[in-house]
Amino acid sequence: MKNIKDYNLEELKQELVDLGEKPFRAEQIFKWLYQEKVKTFDEMTNISLELREKLKQNYTMCNFNILKKQVSKDGTIKYLFDVLDGNAIETVLMSYHHGYSICVSSQIGCKMGCKFCASTGINFIRNLTSGEIVEQILAVEQDENLRISNVVFMGIGEPLDNYDNVINTIHILNNQKGLSIGARHISISTSGLVPKIYKLAEENIPCTLSISLHATTNEKRSKMMPVNDAYPIEELIQSCKDYIAKTNRRISFEYALAKDNNDNLEDAKGLVKLLKGMLCHVNLIPINKIENGAYTKSSNEHIMKFRDYLNDNGIVATIRRELGSDIDAACGQLRRKNLKQ
Ligand code: SAH
Repeated sequence: MKNIKDYNLEELKQELVDLGEKPFRAEQIFKWLYQEKVKTFDEMTNISLELREKLKQNYTMCNFNILKKQVSKDGTIKYLFDVLDGNAIETVLMSYHHGYSICVSSQIGCKMGCKFCASTGINFIRNLTSGEIVEQILAVEQDENLRISNVVFMGIGEPLDNYDNVINTIHILNNQKGLSIGARHISISTSGLVPKIYKLAEENIPCTLSISLHATTNEKRSKMMPVNDAYPIEELIQSCKDYIAKTNRRISFEYALAKDNNDNLEDAKGLVKLLKGMLCHVNLIPINKIENGAYTKSSNEHIMKFRDYLNDNGIVATIRRELGSDIDAACGQLRRKNLKQ
């Protein structure tokens, strides 16, 4: 059966027309789903019983079950959701002074194989649908009774490898008759799928693009991120320059610092050289060691020195606050969990 949350408003109007209904019904349904956040068609009380029956026969609501919920001492919450097909994914809720942010997964598993990431080494299963990405937000909002203001595509998966569903998710989230989360409050993080970066630049969606850079030479980056063999640094940076020129939007470069690997002065110099003059910001992440991982966290002193060098040399850099590390919810710690395991 089709998932009613997979459709943006225009598509849902067409679905309703195909069912022999008036398109405005789609707006009513959208309101029920995303403003009232109901979990059943029966709660949609301004819709006739007959149409409710039709909807039940044609669509599911895709309400995720919470398999596990872990609360960190800093307030971060990690959810393990049953995505209703025998698989499970993780989603993280973070609280900031400006509101609540959610880190959503975009795929069940990941194909990218980054050596430092916990989502690696587990088989890729499938893309999540738009409705399954949207449902992560709804399920958390329902569970905690709050409103999420920021969405980051930094959970399990490579969002640009699930391009169409991620773009459609953004259209669903943006809609003012629904969740009304503006594109400016949405970040897409990519390991660097260059052709998709060019494509995203054409979308006219003012979301934030984050690039997981992590190294400044191809030799080093390829060791950490096999995707670099397909799209080396020069091509990646060129696509970023094109993105900035087309959108006039600042790019955020993610740089996870690993001890004795990419955290010394030479690396900082390389980063300055690479990014000089670009409309960008560098987000330094203390790397989180994963089980059997080769990379360990740099010392705080190294991280601060690295940041200061960048800032002193014209590159705006900040250190990302680590949230949820005690519940394995910090950057790169999310993994696909199979219910059958
Ligand atoms: N596939 C996307 C989004 C998921 S990862 C991407 O690669 O960008 C979200 C961010 O966490 C990325 O910047 C990623 O490189 C980083 N990350 C992954 N594992 C990490 C780890 N162990 N420690 C710190 N950051 C990590």
